[in-house]
Amino acid sequence: MARREKQRLAVLGASGSIGVSTLDVVARHPERFELIALTAYSRIDVLAQQCLRHRPRYAVVGSAADAKTLSAVLSDAGLATEVLAGPEALERVAALDEVDTVMAAIVGAAGLAPTLAAVRAGKRLLLANKEALVMAGALFMAEVSRSGAQLLPIDSEHNAVFQSLPADYAGSFDGKGVRRILLTASGGPFLNTPMAQLISVTPAQACAHPNWVMGRKISVDSATMMNKGLEVIEAHWLFNAPADRIEVVIHPQSVIHSLVEYADGSVLAQLGNPDMRTPIAHALAYPERIEAGVTPLDLCAIGRLSFERPDGKRFPCLPLAYQAMSAGGSAPTLLNAANEVAVAAFLAGRLPFLAIADIISAVLDALPAVPLPDLEAVLGADREARLAAGKAVARRET
Ligand code: NAD
Ligand code: MG
Repeated sequence: MARREKQRLAVLGASGSIGVSTLDVVARHPERFELIALTAYSRIDVLAQQCLRHRPRYAVVGSAADAKTLSAVLSDAGLATEVLAGPEALERVAALDEVDTVMAAIVGAAGLAPTLAAVRAGKRLLLANKEALVMAGALFMAEVSRSGAQLLPIDSEHNAVFQSLPADYAGSFDGKGVRRILLTASGGPFLNTPMAQLISVTPAQACAHPNWVMGRKISVDSATMMNKGLEVIEAHWLFNAPADRIEVVIHPQSVIHSLVEYADGSVLAQLGNPDMRTPIAHALAYPERIEAGVTPLDLCAIGRLSFERPDGKRFPCLPLAYQAMSAGGSAPTLLNAANEVAVAAFLAGRLPFLAIADIISAVLDALPAVPLPDLEAVLGADREARLAAGKAVARRET
């Protein structure tokens, strides 16, 4: 049998929750994968350990000081890894000729430029960084079709939808008899918390997700359900899904990761234990299937699966996201930026949990939705919304 060429990977955000799970899957299959580049902005100690283990050709960090520290550790250990720093270095490793596949797992808007660089270079792109697609959807998808990049969703819901759509789905619901996409949502840690208590919940409580262990920003997004709002917009772009054909269903057990309904009444779903190594392994090996280290699903032990409709009063971020998607243009960019600012303020103890939605709503009301013809316009809208959100946070503090 011919020897398989190894798939050469760059993992952006290697030190984070998705990055660590990615390296876990990769380490199970040394014959399949080779790590060319690893990047991190924080937890440089984790990145150093990852470099010692996987010996990538490049490591990228945020600052020159971190680069110096990491270089010293790696050269002491006899590694030839080249250590680079800063946003341009991220774009460079995302577009390297010797890289086939890029895992985009940086959190937030900081991931946009390197993710787009991978798209423009026509890479196979494993997309976890949903904020990049939300803030620049039209531009992002236009670049995907221009460059021929292959886009594989890592977000568990979108990966489930991808798996439940026909294999030759090419972006038209009606052409394939698709009626609706149903995105499942756990409802997060506050699904049944009395509303009066939500006023005083802490970052630690908001980050204690019942089913998933994730980075802090997405954990807060899950608690407000803005995560599902961002995912509705993500599904709109990934699958060319009309807004009124994407429905959110609360499913607290997080066993069904999402569903696709067809014209004949069939509903196909993807199930599994809540472990991101499943969608990561699916996308890494696609169209093959590989071992991911995930505990097999024991339905009888789970016993019951339940479902309910989301409550827009308890979770106002969800209707805000639908509103931004319908407004189009820069509205999702503004929504995403305002949310990032509000979540950071909440995590820093500067904003009450329930005020996150107020800040986003104030920014959407204050700034008009305008067309975004290019990256400059996207970044401009992002900056403007961050300024407006920062002012709205400061006003509440005084
Ligand atoms: P995380 O906070 O655990 O990790 C984020 C990574 O990005 C880290 O490596 C960090 O160093 C890097 N980073 C942060 N700021 C940066 C900057 N300014 N420049 C460069 N690098 C930077 O986050 P996570 O939970 O792994 O999530 C990553 C992305 O995946 C997010 O967009 C999230 O929405 C998405 N996602 C995560 C999960 C999950 O289970 N964790 C599930 C679905 C989607
Ligand atoms: Mg998700």
